[in-house]
Amino acid sequence: MAKGSIPDQSPIYMDNAATTRCDPRVVEAMLPYFTEMYGNASSRNHSFGWQAEDGVDTAREQAASLIGANPKEIIWTSGATESNNLAIKGAARMYARGPEGTTGRGHIVTAVHEHKAVLDPCKRLQREGFDVTYLEPGADGLITAEMVSGALRDDTILVSIMWANNEIGTINEVPEIGKLCHDREIVFHTDATQWVGKMPTDVERDHIDLMSWSGHKMYGPKGVGALYVRRRRPRIRLEALVDGGGHERGMRSGTLNVTGIVGFGKACELCQAEMDAEGERLLKLRRKLEQTLMGRMDVVAINGHEEKRLPHLTNISFGFVEGESLMMGIKNIACSSGSACTSASLEPSYVLKSLGVGDDLAHSSLRLSLGRWSTEAEVDEAIESIAKAVEHLRTMSPLYDLHNEGIDISTIEWQAH
Ligand SMILES: *Cc1c(COP(=O)(O)O)cnc(C)c1O
Repeated sequence: MAKGSIPDQSPIYMDNAATTRCDPRVVEAMLPYFTEMYGNASSRNHSFGWQAEDGVDTAREQAASLIGANPKEIIWTSGATESNNLAIKGAARMYARGPEGTTGRGHIVTAVHEHKAVLDPCKRLQREGFDVTYLEPGADGLITAEMVSGALRDDTILVSIMWANNEIGTINEVPEIGKLCHDREIVFHTDATQWVGKMPTDVERDHIDLMSWSGHKMYGPKGVGALYVRRRRPRIRLEALVDGGGHERGMRSGTLNVTGIVGFGKACELCQAEMDAEGERLLKLRRKLEQTLMGRMDVVAINGHEEKRLPHLTNISFGFVEGESLMMGIKNIACSSGSACTSASLEPSYVLKSLGVGDDLAHSSLRLSLGRWSTEAEVDEAIESIAKAVEHLRTMSPLYDLHNEGIDISTIEWQAH
């Protein structure tokens, strides 16, 4: 196997929203920090420590450069889950109104279809006496500045709205929401895990106070993330979740994951350099994927706003097929389904449900997310597999026959069983 190549037999990887392949150039940058420059970045007395610190400093500059920040505003974490927890709990507890154990400690605004790494910290804060408003998107999946504006109260202390949704790729009005929060002196956090590295980001222009993102969603290593924490106009303070040693301006103690951080930095640098061309390339591929599937079959629906979506991600529902059978029929494609059948629950995706997608169409949806190694040949093969699987399943569907005879399925009264 040539260096950096992918084994032939493995399925086509179209699950880049779940995680990405670590770029071999990133791995190369990391390697010396395992075995040669293995010092503790906090060791001040010898060259091993200085080398490690240099590596971390470079990564901080690379990460800051990608988002228009100052390197001092980057806090290293273990990933976007931790960054979200630190941002949301850290800000809420720092800017809380009343003492612990009381109610009415402050109001937080987020949305129902955020990632669990935002929703679960918000739920914990509710148990600690904070009020949380969960905004509902429209059928297009978007959260607008107007929706946020309508939810703000005198006691609102924090707004957390993701930049791009991880299941449907829709892009929220983050700069407008940020502006609104700045005008009202409310702290604004965004989970930008699916956005940063793919789309241009400028924390000044876009009015961001706190922003989470993760290495493994942008061709870096797993287990390393960053939180942008604004230092000026206004200076954002956070209560730490992890105490001990006072690393990262006291916000996140613990010996720095030097290798991971170096990889994260390199991944940021590569994304910045290749962003424009790569975004265009992937958008073309995604359009081909969507348009060919929709041209070839009926009752195919794209979930989420038509235009305001990430270039590389699509979430498509296929009517008259059963979700699990569809997944079984496309084993040569590694992707996600809108049904959580594979996990413990049988619930369809809560994200799709929040858009008003019915259970059937949610179960029979696919999230296909392209990435740096996706090729047109792979897209062609995926189109062929998906279309064949859907067409095959529909030949066995009595409902699809009825549909073809012009009968509106939704008007049929089903007998309970
Ligand atoms: C993947 C993801 C996370 C979690 O990131 P980890 O680094 O895996 O903890 C959080 N939010 C969004 C939107 C994601 O896509």
